[in-house]
Amino acid sequence: MNRGYLLEIFSSYQGEGPWAGARQMFVRLSGCHLRCAYCDTPESWRRSPSWRVERTPGSQDFEMRANPAPVRTVLNILDDWSRRETYHSVSFTGGEPLLQPAFVRAMAEGARALGLKTYLDTSGTLADRLAQVADVIDILALDLKLPSCPGVRMGWEDARRCLELARGRDAFVKIVLLDDSDPEEVARAAALVRSVDPRMRIVLQPVTPVSEGILPPGGRTVAAARRACEAAGVEPLVLPQLHKLAGWR
Ligand code: SF4
Repeated sequence: MNRGYLLEIFSSYQGEGPWAGARQMFVRLSGCHLRCAYCDTPESWRRSPSWRVERTPGSQDFEMRANPAPVRTVLNILDDWSRRETYHSVSFTGGEPLLQPAFVRAMAEGARALGLKTYLDTSGTLADRLAQVADVIDILALDLKLPSCPGVRMGWEDARRCLELARGRDAFVKIVLLDDSDPEEVARAAALVRSVDPRMRIVLQPVTPVSEGILPPGGRTVAAARRACEAAGVEPLVLPQLHKLAGWR
């Protein structure tokens, strides 16, 4: 696939998980099959007719371009920006990038040929598609979504297969916590992670309150989730979305 649907390309810092603070170029694809109640990028849900790119890295000035975007255009931007400053990696995010696996694969192969590390942020609900790109991804950020969250559709077997593809690699699992998150679901998620890869890092991410109905977890909820992980033999990190706190993009 030499073209695909983007929402934007921009430069910033990774805001989630163990690589928070790493300088990255972000390639945000448009389209998502889920509607998570806590989603902070609902503008990425539908395939967009156009996409935007910073005129220069970090600029507030954008240029609009038409979708579908050619892989070559994306790679030219990554090449240009990575000659101007050093980046830790290029992050493919969304939306759900794995709705366009061939496009992700072509961009990731091209990014690697430019000497860049590749980072994939995925909902962890599309194991067959993850299998199509996993070998060209250096760092995997896998959501393990709790099924009780409105708008989430996940299957535990699919989650297992995603974890198996991430096993032994630079990867981590993110679990978003809301105020009413069920510790039993966290326990099941942590036990699954532990059974597939005992060394896999779990990040409990208190939700960013994107709307009135989305309440961040109180101390008791976080403590219960942490205990649920520890009971499964996993010591989690508790990390909020750093980019929201810092005012990064
Ligand atoms: S998978 Fe990601 S982009 Fe899609 S709805 Fe959920 S949080 Fe939003």
